[in-house]
Amino acid sequence: MAAAATRAPQMSGPSAPRKKNDTFNQKDKPTQVRLSNITAAKAVADAIRTSLGPRGMDKMIETGKKEVVISNDGATILKHMSVLHPAARMLVDLSAAQDIEAGDGTTSVVVLAGSLLSAAEKLLKKGIHPTQIAEGFQYAAIEAVKILEEISIPINLDDREFLLKSATTSLSSKVVSQYSNVLAPIVVDAVLRIVNPAVDTNVDLNDIRIVKKVGGTIDDTELVPGLVLNQNAISSAGGPTRIEKAKIGLIQFQLSPPKPDMDNQVVVNDYRQMDRILKEERNYLLNLVKKIKKAGCNVLLIQKSILRDAVNSLSLHFLAKLKIMAIKEVEREEIEFICKATGCKPIADIDSFTEDKLGYADLVEEAESNGSRIVQISGIKNAGKTASIIMRGANQYVLDEADRSIHDALCVIRCLVKKRALVVGGGAPEIEISQRLSQLAKVQTGFQSICFQAFAEAVEVIPITLAENSGLSPISIVTELRNRHANGEKSVGINVRKGTISDMLKENVVQPLLVSTSAIELSTETVRMLMKIDDILASR
Ligand code: ADP
Ligand code: MG
Repeated sequence: MAAAATRAPQMSGPSAPRKKNDTFNQKDKPTQVRLSNITAAKAVADAIRTSLGPRGMDKMIETGKKEVVISNDGATILKHMSVLHPAARMLVDLSAAQDIEAGDGTTSVVVLAGSLLSAAEKLLKKGIHPTQIAEGFQYAAIEAVKILEEISIPINLDDREFLLKSATTSLSSKVVSQYSNVLAPIVVDAVLRIVNPAVDTNVDLNDIRIVKKVGGTIDDTELVPGLVLNQNAISSAGGPTRIEKAKIGLIQFQLSPPKPDMDNQVVVNDYRQMDRILKEERNYLLNLVKKIKKAGCNVLLIQKSILRDAVNSLSLHFLAKLKIMAIKEVEREEIEFICKATGCKPIADIDSFTEDKLGYADLVEEAESNGSRIVQISGIKNAGKTASIIMRGANQYVLDEADRSIHDALCVIRCLVKKRALVVGGGAPEIEISQRLSQLAKVQTGFQSICFQAFAEAVEVIPITLAENSGLSPISIVTELRNRHANGEKSVGINVRKGTISDMLKENVVQPLLVSTSAIELSTETVRMLMKIDDILASR
């Protein structure tokens, strides 16, 4: 930066006034940089503020490929926004971090960070040093998390009622909210199917698969026993589409004639030679298929291949003749899931195609429902802990957003497995934090006290925004909330649907403790990072 600053006067010509020792004279430059960072980051927060809560708005995003995405999820909106300013990009990353850590609360975390930045801006203008602000906010965040833990309600994973309520709260602020009574039980059951409540402290959401099919409505979404595949059975060669007592094999090699490694040509100028080549090819493929049959396999899943065709019509013909159901185009990423779900092992070459690598199921069937065909595998022996959800919707936009909403709800249940406690929603915990931090501010001294007070006011942005977004008067709502909380009514929050204030516990608006604590921790961390930056340099 020093180089750039000293070069600047020379470039502006001899008439420009030259300052001596320019870099050292720019004492207010760090402040300028900080303020501009804050402005940029706040712009991002303001952009998605209107999406918070059940009455929040959705955004329509046009991607670079001219595709349209409609979403209410903070992380999704920010991911698609083209944000240039480096400080603003930090908020995008913040939302992504919350998505990874908790999965829900991705809008709240950014809104909270925006509000903390406004608070920091005011403190900076009062002349408090940025390091002191960073430190003060850190202590305040630690206290805030303690307060949240204090007011949280411990739960048990057997308590299905609370799990359903949390999933419903998460779904209630989505485009597909009217279907939350259908989706919430699916989400809860899917997670409960794959966890062992006694020992597990985390859930691998890769073990839950969502298959999206256009057709029908979201109401038709279901959690299926066993496994469903994205792919269809190949029936072009007359192969079976229904197999009872299935033995499932998953191959990673190709059922097509081998290709030379390099491009080379064979010139055939004799019909007899031509026949020989065709015969060789036929024998080669027949041999492969016979070996597969010999191992007892009658449902063959074939991994997608980029080198050459995974199957050709001749091998499909042989497979059909030997009554083997063929399903091709299995993606590389699906292999692990399919193996876990069906108990089969992937087979990399024909010589290792043995019976012990097959998976067993009572029935593999391609069925048609709601205008699309799906292959369903049921009655699996040795099935691992996986769950499959078939999701239906009228069009791709609805399906995609429903998928993201279900993901958020799954994350909510995962949070509850990780940390088994709930807090109420509707802005109640934020008001509680705000009040208790204000009290703590009174017993602190110096900059700490000011920072605590500023932090306390900043977290009120969540109830304020919830009220704003539902068309209520933020000032009167928040004042009343403060009064009721001061009287000891800890779970009173904004009843967004009725437009009043009521007990959120009775309204069944609950969310995982982890979502709220992680939002506070991550947003404070980002704000502290932004406070400590005093210059922006471009790298070569
Ligand atoms: P995020 O991406 O941060 O999860 P949401 O749009 O899901 O954003 O909004 C979450 C906020 O809405 C939380 O503060 C939550 O307490 C609140 N909320 C959700 N459902 C309700 C409800 N039925 N009544 C009041 N507040 C609600
Ligand atoms: Mg949410």
